Amino acid sequence: MKRQDFTAGAAIKRILVAGGAGFLGSHLCEELVAQGHHVTCLDNLETGSLKNVEALTGSNRFTLLKQDVCDPLPDHLRVQEIYNLACAASPPHYQADPIHTMMTCVVGTNNLLGLAERCEARFLQASTSEVYGDPEQHPQTEAYWGHVNPTGPRACYDEGKRAAETLCFDYLRMGRADVRVVRIFNTYGPRMRPDDGRIISNLVCQALAGEPLTIYGTGEQTRSFCYASDLIRGLLQMMAAKDNPGAPVNFGNPGEFTINELAHLVLKITGSPSKISLHPLPVDDPQRRRPDIGRAHQLFGWKPEIALVEGLGPTIEWFARELRKGARATID
Ligand code: NAD
Ligand code: UDP
Repeated sequence: MKRQDFTAGAAIKRILVAGGAGFLGSHLCEELVAQGHHVTCLDNLETGSLKNVEALTGSNRFTLLKQDVCDPLPDHLRVQEIYNLACAASPPHYQADPIHTMMTCVVGTNNLLGLAERCEARFLQASTSEVYGDPEQHPQTEAYWGHVNPTGPRACYDEGKRAAETLCFDYLRMGRADVRVVRIFNTYGPRMRPDDGRIISNLVCQALAGEPLTIYGTGEQTRSFCYASDLIRGLLQMMAAKDNPGAPVNFGNPGEFTINELAHLVLKITGSPSKISLHPLPVDDPQRRRPDIGRAHQLFGWKPEIALVEGLGPTIEWFARELRKGARATID
């Protein structure tokens, strides 16, 4: 089998972003186009939206390819880099069609890896902290193999992403593609959908609407929240690195908060009179999560710059604008 030369290519590149119309994907597309690259955004618009890439559609360096990543990719596609962000990331969305979620992770990633091999393109897989499941090690290092229920309702995503990592590292070991895997921890920011269903969008939209804040379980479970721009910077650094790390790399903000602490912070910043309402904890909901980001720091000097209290400001403004637009659309 032919071994590839894994050195970096030309300065201006042709880049495919699968899932590019989603929350994180659209920020990535925007940054890549701004850097002068030619970007093809492949997306089936399942959880993504045309609105997210509206500002880019006027650029001759941006092309939208509306298709499912599980379907055969067009023969004419020729790219030098591939970012695979295609997959619904919010539990209610990825659980709505769990078999399709698993297929997106496995068949979709395999399709894109095949394209990377044909084009000799560098490939970056957006994996997740969910590969650690409900972790027994805290904080989570990349060496931890995880604690995932393979048959529960979260498995379509957790096991799908784990299987996708397996494919990625087999392609890399076999010399078929220069594959890099990032494990993203809970990331938030503008362009999340008000109906996304994840904690930040739910709490902020509820607080802005004066509705009760829904807390699942006791609210003492923790998460560590990374602002979108910090994460995007990490993805770009990982893709640009001359040497392939040859192992997954965690990207996230180590600042760890209970869901109760987050709810009170949102109430304080929004000045909302909303009350808290307690609901049952979803099955297999991880109790604690915090990234060990030593590897990202050692490899790239990467660390997040935006604390939760700073990132919530622009995020709240985004949701306030979206809710106002929604209210106006209802009146019209
Ligand atoms: P998102 O749901 O906003 O984006 C996912 C995008 O993929 C959407 O545009 C969606 O339409 C598209 N998509 C889904 N299935 C597809 C398919 N079969 N074919 C083509 N397009 C498809 O979610 P996000 O938060 O932007 O997450 C982006 C990626 O990052 C996902 O792969 C997710 O697993 C990963 N990730 C995100 C977080 C986070 O906290 N945001 C954490 C860990 C991992
Ligand atoms: N959660 C909550 N209320 C909500 C949405 C989520 O209490 O309205 C909890 C959820 O049970 C989990 C945490 O917040 O413990 C983070 O949930 P999210 O869906 O954002 O991300 P994930 O569980 O995938 O990390």
